[in-house]
Amino acid sequence: MHKDSSPTIQGFKVRAVRVPMTEPHKTASGVITESPLVLTDILTDTGISGHSIVFTYTPAALKPTAGLIQNFEALVQGDALAPAEVEQKLAKRFRLLGPQGLVGIALAAIDMALWDALARVHSMPLVRLLGEVEKPVRAYGAIGYDGVKGSGNGAESWAKRGFTGVKAKIGYPTVQEDVAVVRAIRKAAGDDMAIMVDYNQCLTPTEAVERLRVLDDEGLTWVEEPTLAHDYAGHALVAREARTPIQCGENWWGTLDMMHAIEAQASDFVMPDVMKIGGVSGWLRAATIAQTKNIRVSNHLWPEISTRLLCCTPTAHWLEYADWWNPILTEPLRIEKGMAIIDDAIGSGMEWNEDAVSRFSA
Ligand SMILES: [Mg+2]
Repeated sequence: MHKDSSPTIQGFKVRAVRVPMTEPHKTASGVITESPLVLTDILTDTGISGHSIVFTYTPAALKPTAGLIQNFEALVQGDALAPAEVEQKLAKRFRLLGPQGLVGIALAAIDMALWDALARVHSMPLVRLLGEVEKPVRAYGAIGYDGVKGSGNGAESWAKRGFTGVKAKIGYPTVQEDVAVVRAIRKAAGDDMAIMVDYNQCLTPTEAVERLRVLDDEGLTWVEEPTLAHDYAGHALVAREARTPIQCGENWWGTLDMMHAIEAQASDFVMPDVMKIGGVSGWLRAATIAQTKNIRVSNHLWPEISTRLLCCTPTAHWLEYADWWNPILTEPLRIEKGMAIIDDAIGSGMEWNEDAVSRFSA
């Protein structure tokens, strides 16, 4: 019988950090001033480790998330370094508790670290391991809920850096203010700039329809999460009534949420979040669903690994660029003329800046 010489999982090293943001990021649903992150290293018996980052949004969830990940170590210790196999095993294990929330975050942390480890063990870039080749991915920059002047300034600075797309937070008290922000961006960045807007779920479906009637004339590339993320019927109503494409996905937990949203015709485009969709394994399923349905795919945060996954997504659309987590990485994602460029670094492209990791340790 064939002897299994596959590398095995030895253990987890889990650390929590609070990375301050250079400038607070304002949205219609709150302000973000720091990134509470859990960094997971999964060590294999080859001596090689894989890395992942998960984002808990609030520091209150940092310790519980780190604790959960650490507690899951015992469930996979000694298992083969086979991310898809481990994913199926853990999915079964947590079927009764449910795969959303902190459990989902912990499972994604493990999945992403295992894929990274597998690529490293084979000395391959993740993109090559997945059977694809690296290519430049068009990226857009973020503008916060910064008012007319601030949004115009933001757009100008992204344009100066060569970006060809920007996404602004809107959801001001009136639609006239939303329009004024969009026009300030257009004026600052020019007609060729793709402009996306994000309501961060702050409208009712009816309000969204009313606002979109006005915004439909502004030539927007998409309108993101106009209403509650899991109100698929509400989003479908908005998508039917609006000419501007609707974008959703960052809050879908797993590909079943994505399927339900697509079946409801809630969104014209999709933008999974690699953590909430279920890590690399979840993303690959999402990419296949989107390919089958011929729907364009962007990402939410995680620029390093998402650029790689967009290279493996046949209907790839835009990369959401964010530099929030750059301080803890030795080589953050490179952008040239508005395109995210990945080289042939092995794994998913994340190496810890250990000095910064200890400085921001929580
Ligand atoms: Mg968003």
